[in-house]
Amino acid sequence: MSGVLVFTEIKDGKLKKASREALSIGRKLAEAAGGELVAFANDAAVAEDAGRYGAKKLYVLAAADYATEPYTAALAQVVSDVQPSVVLFAGSSNGRDLAPRLAARLNAGVASDVDRLEWTDGKLRARRPVYSGKAFATVDVVSTPAIATTRPNAFPLEEAGGGAAEVVNVSASADNRVKLVETKVPEAGELSIAEADIIVSGGRGLKEAENFSLIRDLAHAIGGAVGASRATVDAGWIDHQHQVGQTGRVVSPNVYIAAGVSGAIQHLAGMSSSKHIVAVNKDPEAPIFRVADLGVVGDLFQIVPALTEEVKKAKAH
Ligand code: FAD
Repeated sequence: MSGVLVFTEIKDGKLKKASREALSIGRKLAEAAGGELVAFANDAAVAEDAGRYGAKKLYVLAAADYATEPYTAALAQVVSDVQPSVVLFAGSSNGRDLAPRLAARLNAGVASDVDRLEWTDGKLRARRPVYSGKAFATVDVVSTPAIATTRPNAFPLEEAGGGAAEVVNVSASADNRVKLVETKVPEAGELSIAEADIIVSGGRGLKEAENFSLIRDLAHAIGGAVGASRATVDAGWIDHQHQVGQTGRVVSPNVYIAAGVSGAIQHLAGMSSSKHIVAVNKDPEAPIFRVADLGVVGDLFQIVPALTEEVKKAKAH
């Protein structure tokens, strides 16, 4: 087959948004390559969801809990059966874990964190942000299959309107030296920054941990997720899962609001590809203003609560 295989992940019984994005671009690549789109998941319940995004078949490893070794083995088996030209993973923790594993096993090339993909001259061409987002590298992945991880929020969602994908069961290998001991879920109501359309981030300008409530209030009012700079994470004000940047998450939401964040290069590396950036900082020279579409020079302790009130008022109408 000269098609595309997409590794998908599930949350609350549905395909995660980043997986649906990978399927959306996967379908275009499959069409261009003259093959079909197939998907891989750990639950047959998403066959309809996968079909809606154009997948003709859903390979199911009904093994439930994620573990690197059995998932790599199962994916390698599917690749050997299906012979896809391209294998895509959303750039989630699991996707970033699996893609290089599979690539090593298949002696294939992998382009990571790509924000553009096209099938051209019988090859997968990918664009990757490099040097903390300051430049882009365009690479051709010449192996078969060609593997890539897609940056969340970089590819638009496009439904294909197909019926449920045909389910094909994949058997699990006994090769697993890892046991899942515990899964920690974020607090109820907390959106993950990896998938949020809007992120409100706080920095050291908040002065102390308790003041993150200002960021949370705005995020909740606006329907967004709470982000943070590394300085605040290192200070123990907030958990690492909220950290945006080079050593945190790379995010590309529609709207990124940064309050009391200076905009160090390592922070910008994680958010400069956001569609609209709003910055609140009392220092007009703060580097964050260089990437901001809308900059407010002022005291976040006045501006952020005022903004929250305005959002609440607007929503009440
Ligand atoms: P600061 O740089 O201290 O900025 C605070 C800002 O708040 C200032 O601009 C100030 O003007 C403003 N401010 C203060 N009071 C107010 C007020 N009342 N109202 C409005 N504005 C106010 N950083 C990350 O964020 N993510 C990473 O992933 C990351 N990875 C790193 C990796 C490496 C290898 C290294 C060396 C560093 C990394 N850093 C990362 C750290 C980075 O260099 C910065 O130190 C950090 O981003 C600064 O955080 P900040 O903007 O919150 O704090």
